[in-house]
This record gives sequence, C-alpha cells and structure tokens, in this order.
Amino acid sequence: MNSLKPENCLILVVDDVSENLQLIALILEKRGYETTFATSGQQALERVQTAKPDLVLLDFMMPEMNGMEVCEKLKANPDVADIPIIFITASHEQEHLIQAFEKGAVDYITKPFKTPELLARVRTHLELRYTRDQLKKSLADQAKLTKNLERLANTDPLTGVWNRRYLLTLCEQEINRAYRYKRLFSLLMLDLDHFKQINDIYGHAVGDEVLIAMTKVVQYCLREVDFWGRFGGEEFVVILPETNLDAAVDVAERIRQNLEKTAISVEGEQVKITVSIGVSSYQLDDQKIDVVLQRADKALYEAKNQGRNRIALFGT
Ligand code: GH3
Ligand code: MG
Ligand code: MG
Repeated sequence: MNSLKPENCLILVVDDVSENLQLIALILEKRGYETTFATSGQQALERVQTAKPDLVLLDFMMPEMNGMEVCEKLKANPDVADIPIIFITASHEQEHLIQAFEKGAVDYITKPFKTPELLARVRTHLELRYTRDQLKKSLADQAKLTKNLERLANTDPLTGVWNRRYLLTLCEQEINRAYRYKRLFSLLMLDLDHFKQINDIYGHAVGDEVLIAMTKVVQYCLREVDFWGRFGGEEFVVILPETNLDAAVDVAERIRQNLEKTAISVEGEQVKITVSIGVSSYQLDDQKIDVVLQRADKALYEAKNQGRNRIALFGT
C-alpha cells in the first residue's frame, strides 16, 4: 500500500481564537500539511463542504455553535461523515469528552498541547482514514473484477449470449421456480439452416459474423425477462418465462420471420439465413429441464425434416 504524504493532506483547523489557529497552522504547515481555517462553527460547516478536508481539528468551546454541534452536524451529512474529527479541549472540559466520542469524534487533544502529541494524533488518524479508503477501493476493485470474471465465465465469447453451462443453470432455476409456484414457461430450440454451406461458401470468418448478427436479430424479438444462450455451434436455446405454448409459437414465428427477411451484410456479401425452431412448454410433472429440452429437440428435428425455415411443436 502506498504511503501517505503530508502535502496531500488538507487539515481544517477550527478555532474562534485566531492566535490558536495560527499556532496550530504553523505546526502543521512546518510538517508539510496543507491547512485551511474556520473561526466559527457555521464557517466550519461551510469549509468542510467546499474544501472536503482529510481531517478536522475542532475547538470544543466556541460562541454560537460549539464544537459538539458542529461535530453532530458533520456526522449527520453522509457526504462528509467519514472525515475524522479531533477535538481540541481545555482540561476543564474533559467531562464532555464521552459525549464528543458518542457524537463521532475520533480523538481529542487537551490545551495546552505538546507539538509531538498533536502531530502524532493527526498522523495516526490520517493514516487510519487513508488505509480504510485504500481498503474500500481495493474491495470495490475486487468486486468489479469478480463480476467481470463471472460474466466472462458465463458468456459465449463470440456472440456475448450466455454459454451452455450457464444457460443450463438458469434453466434449472426456471424449472424449479415453475415447479414450486405452479407457473409455466416455454423453451425454443433454434438451429440455423444449412449453416455449413455458409461456411463453405463464404468462409468461417463470415460464418462467425453471421452468428453475431443473428444473435442481434433474435435479441430484438425477445422481452427483457426472456433469456437465452448458445447451446452448441449454431444452435441456441431461448427460455420464455410465464409464456404458454401459443404465445411461444408467436415468438418463435417472429424470430423465424425476422431472420428470414434480414440480409446480413458481411465483407460486402449479402448473406441470407433461415432458422428452424423447435417449441416446447414446461408441463406440470416435468422434474428436469432435460425433459423439456428433449421435447424441443424432437420438435426441431421435425422442423428440419419438414423442410427447414419453419417452427414445429413437439408431437405435431
Ligand atoms: P442443418 O440445416 O441440418 O442444421 O444444417 P447445418 O449445416 O446447419 O448443420 P450441421 O450440423 O451439418 O453443421 C453445422 C455447421 O455449423 C458446421 C460448423 O462448422 C458450423 N459452426 C459451428 N460453430 C460455428 C462457429 O462458431 N463459427 C462458424 N463460422 N461456424 C460454426
Ligand atoms: Mg444447423
Ligand atoms: Mg446443428
């Protein structure tokens, strides 16, 4: 972890007596800290908002708004609540200290103070805050990284849709949900027609582009709640939650028609594709997603058999 440099730390000193301010500022500046001032509670609140200091040295006893009130107000403002506050108190004010800690102060220094003590306390709390901020940042980075890795592990690198493994996990969740709450869902199994020919005619790279373009068309036909993924080479599975067979047929037909009328232009070529789709719905006694998948697969086989570029239902 990087170390903390005094010149990167801004300390707000709050005291209604300007000699005190000057004395403290001199000590801090000699050590290399940046300083800023306030001579009243109200001014302190404003300075904290505008300057966002790294630490506040706060006089306890001030006219109008005393240190305790300032502390309380700062701690109530989430924007600045984590700025450490060190109270500067006279020895006879010590009985208020418990209250000061309760209000969120991190420490106190008693007047008249010794320079090394002031510097030591300031340094400790700046370092604590710095370390905590670094830790927070690295936890946030870690979480982002983990999320990214998860996404990478679950998606198909070519098309960006879910991969087979993760899709099956989602399918299991969907079937468990349907079983428990007695809901329904439908499943589409899509397979591009004569895709091998596309590779043969235009080359594998164009075939890849066609797959990418095709996923965009399919995505356009789906709702936010639907999910889908690449099941194999040019085969995709779509789950339509809360969708009965009739509605699923409509979706499948929409996908088929949209793909049929889209000419995909890749490297100057206009590539036409069609798709065959097997449609199947969850039935109340289905225990495993495999059963639903198998029905869709059989329907897909039928669609292919009947001449492709069509949809078929299981058992029809
Ligand atoms: P059918 O209408 O019966 O489905 O015929 P088809 O040619 O689409 O089916 P087949 O299973 O014979 O061939 C699938 C082809 O898909 C063969 C394979 O090279 C191609 N393929 C699979 N994955 C990819 C990929 O990621 N990129 C490209 N370009 N081609 C792929
Ligand atoms: Mg195919
Ligand atoms: Mg295939």
